[in-house]
Amino acid sequence: MMDVESLINPHLRDMRPYVPIVPFEVLSRRLGRRPEEIVKLDANENPYGPSPRVCEAIARADALHIYPDPDQTLLREAISDYIGVPAEHILCGAGADELIDLIARAFIQPGDAIVDLPPTFGMYRWEADVMNATYLQVPRRADFSVDVPAVQRMVIGDGRSGDGPTIRNSHLPVPPRKLLFVTNPNNPDGSTIGDESLRALLALPLVVVLDEAYVDFSAQPSRVSWVRDHDNLIVLRTFSKLAGMAGLRVGYGVFPLPVIRHLWKIKQPYTPNVAGSIAAIAALGDRSYLHQTVRALVAERQRMSELLSRFDWLRLFPSEANFVLCRVAETAPIPADETAQPAARRLKHLLERRGVLVRYFDRDGLRDCIRISVGRPDQTDRLIEAIEGLVK
Ligand SMILES: *Cc1c(COP(=O)(O)O)cnc(C)c1O
Repeated sequence: MMDVESLINPHLRDMRPYVPIVPFEVLSRRLGRRPEEIVKLDANENPYGPSPRVCEAIARADALHIYPDPDQTLLREAISDYIGVPAEHILCGAGADELIDLIARAFIQPGDAIVDLPPTFGMYRWEADVMNATYLQVPRRADFSVDVPAVQRMVIGDGRSGDGPTIRNSHLPVPPRKLLFVTNPNNPDGSTIGDESLRALLALPLVVVLDEAYVDFSAQPSRVSWVRDHDNLIVLRTFSKLAGMAGLRVGYGVFPLPVIRHLWKIKQPYTPNVAGSIAAIAALGDRSYLHQTVRALVAERQRMSELLSRFDWLRLFPSEANFVLCRVAETAPIPADETAQPAARRLKHLLERRGVLVRYFDRDGLRDCIRISVGRPDQTDRLIEAIEGLVK
């Protein structure tokens, strides 16, 4: 038989897979609990789900046998009306994730560099691996703020000198820096970047992709309007978190005109699908529901933070998103288990056994950290009870 695997792209043969969280159904079976008994605070999903009008609109859909409008006309108009940017700057996809992929396909040739600011969302690194890009990282500071001078050195310098930045997957002596991903508010800590720092990054000779997946939960306004004045700025938004539609996969980007022209050419023609498009339009048609759920989540973030900060072995980072990152002190009174794991990991596992799911990270810059998504008040109460039960 032929060795078909030898025909796979070499850089993909060695690539490490993206590790998503365990699917809900699988976990529910493993824990022996019904889905409705599980408090799912591990993936920043919006626990309120979409507006009832969204579900009604999908139920009424009568054109499921027809391909979606490849120009996304109605959806882009609805988004334009919502964000106040002309529709010609807007392009939608199957989640913001598809747009990250589209942007990388448009700008990256093998060896070109993607600059990342970890700890952050894992998709940018995955995308660099898929594209055989040079992956450059400029770690955030201990408080998760962006080290702008270090980014400047990485982008304008040879990327090899200096102390902080590290370089990986390099194929070329001086790889062309093409894309810089900035998540704002950042996932997993919820910090934001100020105007001055963002302007400094935009002055660099590369494209800044500002991922605003969580901006609706922030006191800071969106920067979508900046795209008109900055030809190297792309802003990504999504219905997943704001509108409780993670399962429907609808996201969009706001692009400069010289960029969007080319993206239309290389985009798969039929995303988002009909159900997602109808849902997104209906979601934007029920603004009071959106505002109400955002208000509820922001208030709950405050209440959950206050309750959590009573555990003196938890250190909370200030968050402007729908999640809170906590560092778990090694001295935390979390019962030891067989495996002698760090306290944060034990906490994650013991909570899981009690049906409460949080995200644990074992990565540089995130050692001993768990991220807890903001849920409904009853879910916060279950979380706090579970923690109290553990440390008693
Ligand atoms: C969740 C998330 C996304 C993914 O959005 P989708 O629209 O669901 O693909 C993008 N960026 C960040 C930072 C996220 O946390």
